[in-house]
Amino acid sequence: MSLIDPRLLAILRCPVCHEDVAEDVDALVCPQGHRYPVVDGIPDMVPGDGS
Ligand SMILES: [Zn+2]
Repeated sequence: MSLIDPRLLAILRCPVCHEDVAEDVDALVCPQGHRYPVVDGIPDMVPGDGS
């Protein structure tokens, strides 16, 4: 079972370093280690939010 729609995953890029992202357990991750949580199939791709 996919975390998000594979067609969506195919077009998503990390907004910080523009690398392809891949599914992790409950998030999308890029090769540089940026993580974006996925909630209800919608990835939160906002870089540097909060913290
Ligand atoms: Zn990145």
